Amino acid sequence: MKMLLNGQWVDRDDKIDVIDPFDNSVIDTVPSANAEDCELALASAVKGFEVTKKMTVYDRAQILFKAANLLSERLEEFATIIAREGSKTIKEARKEASRCVNTITCSAEEAKRILGETIPWDSFPGGEKRRGYYYRFPIGVILAITPFNDPLNLVAHKLGPAIAAGNSVILKPATVTPLSAIKLVEVLLEAGLPENAIQVVTGYGSVIGDPLVSDERVRMISFTGGVEAGKHIAGKAGIKKIGMELGSNSPVIVWKDADLDLAVESCVSGSFWAAGQNCIGVQRLLIHKDIYDEFKKRFIELTNKYKIGDKLKEDTDMGPMITEKEAIRVENWVKDAVDKGAKILTGGTREGALYAPTALENLSSEATIHCEEVFGPTVNFYKIDDLDKAIAEANSLPYGLLAAIFTSNVDVAFKAAYDLDCGGVMINDSTDYRLDSMPFGGVKYSGLGREGLKFSLQEMTEPKVICFNLPNI
Ligand code: NAD
Repeated sequence: MKMLLNGQWVDRDDKIDVIDPFDNSVIDTVPSANAEDCELALASAVKGFEVTKKMTVYDRAQILFKAANLLSERLEEFATIIAREGSKTIKEARKEASRCVNTITCSAEEAKRILGETIPWDSFPGGEKRRGYYYRFPIGVILAITPFNDPLNLVAHKLGPAIAAGNSVILKPATVTPLSAIKLVEVLLEAGLPENAIQVVTGYGSVIGDPLVSDERVRMISFTGGVEAGKHIAGKAGIKKIGMELGSNSPVIVWKDADLDLAVESCVSGSFWAAGQNCIGVQRLLIHKDIYDEFKKRFIELTNKYKIGDKLKEDTDMGPMITEKEAIRVENWVKDAVDKGAKILTGGTREGALYAPTALENLSSEATIHCEEVFGPTVNFYKIDDLDKAIAEANSLPYGLLAAIFTSNVDVAFKAAYDLDCGGVMINDSTDYRLDSMPFGGVKYSGLGREGLKFSLQEMTEPKVICFNLPNI
């Protein structure tokens, strides 16, 4: 596939292979962009903004509604691309494709709700003769940088609201999973998006990141990815808005009165969805001592039923990690934990990029897999007996995206909801629950700002005050 610069789909001699991590087959190639390509993208995006900022809300919304319709007619095509270029099974990929229709539809709906307010000028002496209001205006060129693990819907989470707001966008999709993103852009153009409203620059973050991130023509960077890249980008960005959706190592408390069937099913799915490569994937299970053994038994039984392998087979539950290198990293982290005293309850084996769904207990606080985001199919078990201590343990690490608790006690649920330090608390769900329109983001190293269409639109617009001085009234 090609990249999109100045309204043209362009190729380069220097290419990057897009590889299916299950069988290492080359699915396609994309151009490896260079600094000159970035310059063309930036200049074209500035031209594009001159067009998009004058488009009516109606026109912006119509393009997004049409794109959502086109997508919904091609769900299986999109699901297959997601499943081939990334880690997801076809069943997981279908869910992502459907969510993308919702994300684009909600963006269109929210375009019609970009509201201002009148200002109470007479609330302070000297303002009596003033009348006015503020409205929200689009801020300009948005640089959208996206990760590999939801290669379609997380792109839609940036393009949808950017277009709804009247901005132009430069999209830099994940190096390893650019195909779903490019297909989405094709759909947006087919739906009527003006040619320079969007640029797609494919390539390595290490090569094209800095020229795009540091350029003053970019007015906002909307980044989803890991903390390391996030820190680098924040250091290079200069004076512009930054939205950051970063990683986590999500805690889930399973209290003694939890519905165990529900908790086990949700936590197994939440731990191993997308081979654990999920920013809200369950990583730390804090289980009450009274139910620890029963929960553990049922969790292992269900995990051992998981079918791992070919992503395109209908009955596969979990596919490979995104690369063998990543699977080897997880293998090393598990080994490090075991060297420091952990016990493997199930899994712990690797075949190429396939890492078995794995559960560990007896973790040292020194183990990397305890402290850092694993972003792989492993989960840690901890025994707890005191709610305050469990919450303190959940809050003890420098991440805070979502947290969760299973309990049938409303007091316990409310206490956890208010004391867990994070961007959202799921009660009687694992952390792996996100509605695309809810405010989504984290505290500490998990991010800055919020996504979720209405909230992204706030970040991608600014209020402008209009004040009339009316001395004669
Ligand atoms: P990553 O940080 O390696 O890459 C993300 C994107 O940034 C890619 O497009 C990459 O090419 C680009 N990039 C890398 N270095 C860059 C640089 N110096 N300048 C500009 N761009 C650069 O992340 P990944 O491995 O693709 O994704 C996994 C991470 O993303 C995990 O940490 C996960 O938790 C996080 N994530 C967060 C959310 C969320 O909403 N909070 C959602 C999904 C994934």
